[in-house]
Amino acid sequence: MKISFQQSLQRFNTFGVDVRAHMLCKADSYNELRKILKFAEHRALPVFFLGGGSNILLARDYGGVVILLEGLMDIDLCSMGSHWLVRAGAGVNWDGFVQYCAQSGLQGLEALAGIPGTVGAAPIQNIGAYGTEVADCLIGVEVLDRLTLTRYWLPRHALELRYRDSVFKSRHPQRWVILSVLFQLRERETCAQLDAKVREELGDHPQARSLTEITSAVRRVRNRRLPEPGHLGNAGSFFVNPVVDADCMERLLARYSQFPAYAQAGGRWKLSAGWLIQQGVAVGFRVSRVGIHTHNPLLVINHGGATGAEIIAFGGLLQRLVFAKFHVELVREPVCVE
Ligand SMILES: Cc1cc2nc3c(=O)[nH]c(=O)nc-3n(C[C@H](O)[C@H](O)[C@H](O)COP(=O)(O)OP(=O)(O)OC[C@H]3O[C@@H](n4cnc5c(N)ncnc54)[C@H](O)[C@@H]3O)c2cc1C
Repeated sequence: MKISFQQSLQRFNTFGVDVRAHMLCKADSYNELRKILKFAEHRALPVFFLGGGSNILLARDYGGVVILLEGLMDIDLCSMGSHWLVRAGAGVNWDGFVQYCAQSGLQGLEALAGIPGTVGAAPIQNIGAYGTEVADCLIGVEVLDRLTLTRYWLPRHALELRYRDSVFKSRHPQRWVILSVLFQLRERETCAQLDAKVREELGDHPQARSLTEITSAVRRVRNRRLPEPGHLGNAGSFFVNPVVDADCMERLLARYSQFPAYAQAGGRWKLSAGWLIQQGVAVGFRVSRVGIHTHNPLLVINHGGATGAEIIAFGGLLQRLVFAKFHVELVREPVCVE
């Protein structure tokens, strides 16, 4: 176990915000994790679990214990006939895991290649891209419950996995540490569904391509629209796509002849947060050290040295501008750490 005090978290979050943690603990094993949690409880210190820091917004110095889940790196495979059960430790790098599965001929996660972060964080907001969500292949998570300090499995149906949400994100944040995640993957089938952009990138005979060719194509498509966080601080999409009711949809249709909208259950519609920002705010709009990306309006960028408070204020301004124009509320995607 490694412990440091008053440690800068700048290199531990992809926004590159420079705040300090009262204590930063690197837990290499389950037993170390338990010890840290007991210590924090004894001292009544708040606790925050940190993966790759690619979906957090650090508002200010953190007065508690930040636990970096770097250990827990094991991967086990078990054949079940035509499909495989794959268990991966929380600290495993997500993109590395997707590549490992593709190289092993196991299908299901290819569209999620290139997403930054760790396996343990993937269920938190049910990560998704190009028509696939982690929920499509996930069958359970192994957790350590902070309330009882016991370890158990939560089956998929207990996780309330929805669009960019789960029981871990909105209902009981920071209650459970995810220790490992269990996936069910198929052996390679030729008729896998591929998103139109990925099919186009693959060129002729996309269905005949290997899984590793598909993951490489997904990364190329992503890299064209997403800047590398090491060059421009960001946390991916800053807002989730809003889901609105039929009345709101009717109001929008009366004003705009064409806009992206996707039918949802119960007569609701999912709108594109990027499109709403594009219409409501000037291209490349920027206030001091924070702005929106010139090619991708969903990305809020730290142009260097911005504080968490500045990024939060900028996000609030975007929410007000979009609401003033469309009467649609945007909800922030990254988790705010205060
Ligand atoms: C350039 C870029 C592109 C992105 N593209 C996508 C995309 O296409 N689709 C998508 O869905 N997301 C995307 N994201 C967001 C992000 O990569 C994912 O949400 C990712 O799963 C976050 O993983 P992380 O390990 O960095 O989590 P962190 O940012 O470290 O943490 C996020 C939340 O999860 C909690 N957490 C982390 N690990 C654990 C654990 N083991 N147990 C309990 N809680 C935990 C944290 O406490 C925090 O609340 C993108 C981000 C960036 C920077």
